[in-house]
Amino acid sequence: MPDVIVVGAGNAALCAALAARERGAEVTVLEKAERGERGGNTFFTGGGFRFPYNGIEDIHALIPDLSQSELERIDVGSYPEADMRSDLMRVTEGKADPAMVDHLIREAYSTAQWMREQHGQRWVLMYGRQAYEVDGKLRFWGGMITEAVGGGEGLSEGLFDAAERAGIEVRYGTKASALLTDEHTGHVTGVRVQTTERIEPLEAGAVVLAAGGFEANVEMRTRYLGAGWEFAKVRGTRHNTGEVIRQALDIGAQPYGHWSSGHAVAWDLNAPPTGNRRVGDLYQKHSYPLGLIVNINGERFVDEGADFRNYTYAKYGREILNQPYGVAFQLFDQQTIAKLRDEYRIREITKGEGNTIAELADDLGIEQEGLVATVEAYNSACQPGDYNPAERDGLHTEGIELPKSNWALPLNEPPYFGVAVTCGLTFTFGGLRIEAKTSQVLDTEDRPMPGLYAAGELVGGLFYHNYAGGTGLMSGSVFGRFAGYAAAEAALA
Ligand SMILES: Cc1cc2nc3c(=O)[nH]c(=O)nc-3n(C[C@H](O)[C@H](O)[C@H](O)COP(=O)(O)OP(=O)(O)OC[C@H]3O[C@@H](n4cnc5c(N)ncnc54)[C@H](O)[C@@H]3O)c2cc1C
Repeated sequence: MPDVIVVGAGNAALCAALAARERGAEVTVLEKAERGERGGNTFFTGGGFRFPYNGIEDIHALIPDLSQSELERIDVGSYPEADMRSDLMRVTEGKADPAMVDHLIREAYSTAQWMREQHGQRWVLMYGRQAYEVDGKLRFWGGMITEAVGGGEGLSEGLFDAAERAGIEVRYGTKASALLTDEHTGHVTGVRVQTTERIEPLEAGAVVLAAGGFEANVEMRTRYLGAGWEFAKVRGTRHNTGEVIRQALDIGAQPYGHWSSGHAVAWDLNAPPTGNRRVGDLYQKHSYPLGLIVNINGERFVDEGADFRNYTYAKYGREILNQPYGVAFQLFDQQTIAKLRDEYRIREITKGEGNTIAELADDLGIEQEGLVATVEAYNSACQPGDYNPAERDGLHTEGIELPKSNWALPLNEPPYFGVAVTCGLTFTFGGLRIEAKTSQVLDTEDRPMPGLYAAGELVGGLFYHNYAGGTGLMSGSVFGRFAGYAAAEAALA
């Protein structure tokens, strides 16, 4: 019998498993997917992590192989703890659980270091996605500037390698189908596991749940997110179907967080219903702050320049789903095409082109008159000023009802380029309530549930309405790590 069972094998789960093992626990990881589909949503990520840092020294400590010439060419600025706190509170409209936010911010950088020093995770700056060249220097922006080497796949494979080195058992094709409890004390004593051959109990001293959200369960997302969410595409794994959240609720765990919301982005119109492991996150289309977004009638419906994309992308997917046919189009001209992110240069893209706005409309299937009128009104609302995509440059429109608040260049340098997108659901925000420092699951009376811990997307309370890019992985690592420590200590006590 293992000391600790971890349910799921994504980032949060494997950080929990590694931490528990460090404390001397025998650990078994249960993963519903077969080995060839392992890694959960973590595999599909860009591998971006958000943590506070005081300047280049902190980044250099995390990425010691930065060369002198690289150091001279970059400007990473700083991202103080206070800024990260204010970003997390601002995007969640003040609702994020303050104790969870505090613990996350306090432990984020040290956890990234822990992943590097203890478990061999290598980091790299996000040159392609989070930096623009300004005055001859690459200026990083938006709080999240570091990614795992190899992106989500590199992160996931690195964690599995570390787990193997640490002697952690991973059982693939093995699903948690219920949580076992002591009928007298209510303590969690293990998991009922289900494989294609059998169902059997597996006992342990403590259980960590890290089985993701319910985004891939059409019934749950329609029930909780609302009508229309049946039609959203799922960006990541098809295995995050929410049953582990239900299993915990069934034994008295407290539901917590923004159950009717989730992280949803602009995603290629013709992407498959769930993630494709080869294309990964490249179906996303995140350069819209450089251009315009319209619906099939040619009407704008969001302020594309409201903020850095890190702070708007996760809520704009929902806005796209609300448009006719759940479709939208991002439009660019020659002033910005060269600055588009790498995901605009893949083969699997639904794109259109035109030498005039009318031609672009026809190529993309947008109502022509509507688009021409929108672009004319927008262009005449653009103001002169200094354009700088690495800052909130304040270059805004005037005199149109729906403003573009930053980066408002007129769309007037043909040939034009556009992409068709729909809503891609990343993960759901509702989940279980945990005690912030130990990740122990709380019951509906706010009492810690003996033997039960949780981390990652199946935990609620950190994300409401919106999300700051790079917080999902970082929080999974922090709360997973501390869940692992606490679970091991409880199991070995
Ligand atoms: C395309 C894409 C890009 C993203 N990019 C980023 C990024 O750059 N930065 C960032 O911070 N976040 C990003 N995210 C969000 C990110 O996915 C999550 O924050 C993080 O990976 C979640 O990790 P997790 O461990 O909670 O869940 P997952 O990695 O999804 O792992 C959950 C695991 O549980 C397993 N499971 C489910 N049910 C059961 C069961 N009953 N029994 C056993 N196992 C079960 C699943 O198979 C899965 O392997 C992205 C997400 C997607 C989809």
